[in-house]
Amino acid sequence: MKSHKITGQDFLKESGRQSSSIQLKNGSRVGVVGGGPAGSFFSYFLLGLSDRVDLKLDIDIYEPKDFSKSGPQGCNKCGGIISETLVQHLAAEGINLPASIVQRGIDSYVMHTDVGSARIETPLHEKRIGAVYRGCGPRGTEIGRWDSFDGYLLKKAIEKGAHIIKSRVDSITFIDDFPQLVYNHPEASKQTYDLVVIAHGINTSSLPNLDKIISGYRAPGHSKTFIKEYHLGSEIIEQYLGSSMHVFLLKLPRLEFAAIIPKGDFVTVCILGENIDKDLVSHFMQSPEVKSCFPPNFALDGGSCQCWPSINTRGSQRPFCDRVVFIGDSSYSRLYKDGIGAAFITAKAAANTAILQGIATEDFKRSYWPVCKRIDSDNQFGKILFLITKLFQNLRFTRRAILKTIITEQRKPQGRKIMSTVLWDLFSGSSSYREIFLNTLRLSFMGRFAWNSAVSLINISKEGNKGE
Ligand SMILES: Cc1cc2nc3c(=O)[nH]c(=O)nc-3n(C[C@H](O)[C@H](O)[C@H](O)COP(=O)(O)OP(=O)(O)OC[C@H]3O[C@@H](n4cnc5c(N)ncnc54)[C@H](O)[C@@H]3O)c2cc1C
Repeated sequence: MKSHKITGQDFLKESGRQSSSIQLKNGSRVGVVGGGPAGSFFSYFLLGLSDRVDLKLDIDIYEPKDFSKSGPQGCNKCGGIISETLVQHLAAEGINLPASIVQRGIDSYVMHTDVGSARIETPLHEKRIGAVYRGCGPRGTEIGRWDSFDGYLLKKAIEKGAHIIKSRVDSITFIDDFPQLVYNHPEASKQTYDLVVIAHGINTSSLPNLDKIISGYRAPGHSKTFIKEYHLGSEIIEQYLGSSMHVFLLKLPRLEFAAIIPKGDFVTVCILGENIDKDLVSHFMQSPEVKSCFPPNFALDGGSCQCWPSINTRGSQRPFCDRVVFIGDSSYSRLYKDGIGAAFITAKAAANTAILQGIATEDFKRSYWPVCKRIDSDNQFGKILFLITKLFQNLRFTRRAILKTIITEQRKPQGRKIMSTVLWDLFSGSSSYREIFLNTLRLSFMGRFAWNSAVSLINISKEGNKGE
């Protein structure tokens, strides 16, 4: 029977594109540095596409972590929220997250401020986001209780045919124009590849001298954050947090976003902002709004695990050259949100480019770089939104007005709930920042919010509280 597979060259001919100066061929070798979401997504897509164009590739993924372990050994330090958009994208690619990975489906947000709190139900009553652990849970998690999100993705890549090398890559060099990875392993210590994909994120020291080896490359900018895990038990979590993610609009300097996320028997506290330090963490944890999410007298200075990971605040520069491409956090990510979604997008774009265009600088520039730039320009809208949120966070009357607008919207059984949708999308990362920004410009929304702000201002003046 005749095969229905098309070759890469057929595809190029049909699409009228020019053949690249450097192409992957049958038997080409690909080395992927890092088996987090970006590295696994890339390998999964590359092997899927290469099979469709009848190309046999050999992929090695280098990953020193063991995702079957709980605690820091198996963890890639993250809030673990999987946006609805990503859940849908994964399903479309045949990746359906099993129940053993999704510790909890989040069906609402509770926004806490010093002037009260309000619950935001999923807009349209259909959006659902998942809370996962990147490893097998914090220190002390019962073995086999939960499965790791990163481990599951890596398994998907292995099922497609990728090989895993459980080792850290120490450096990259070029031998006769081919990239070579140097690593520490008893059986071998150097491998030369046709293509190297750098997906090592920003939370370990990056490979040395990348900016000297790869002309024009500059590493992404980042900022320090804080994550802490508490074991509360499922009954207490049900009583105090339910299936809601709790977010905080508090007047604390340098705080951009803070959340408490229920997961299985644990809750994850995540604090993002400008170089988060012990002082800010302590102020946040001692605030009455945060304490109200825990049982009275709960020891908040205890906890199972804590870490200070970095988060991307600026994209890299020129994240590619002949035979090398950077993806995920090492390249471009979404500002403060949906980093795993960005890893999916950059990994897919790089795999498409490598198979359907080529692996030369000009191929990545033509086909991969525009995807990175789109993430970057969307982040500019994100910066404006976070600036506005910060302003509102600092003014008591706007904090009140936001709450009032949400409460009024949530009481309505039907009709547009723009503030609720804007905040839902901002917290979950389910829409682009551009869409969220454009939503805030609707006249009806601005009118209602301006009215609620004016009422709050008058009430505060009447109460004699003019201090803020
Ligand atoms: C506080 C905080 C909260 C966050 N919350 C969320 C959230 O709720 N939802 C969301 O979508 N995103 C969130 N993110 C962002 C998300 O964690 C990242 O965007 C995502 O993990 C990027 O995936 P990656 O594969 O590019 O990098 P990583 O996940 O960092 O994976 C990199 C992998 O490379 C391996 N590695 C590193 N160096 C080497 C080497 N030299 N050799 C071989 N392997 C190496 C590492 O072991 C690791 O497994 C959060 C980030 C932070 C800091």
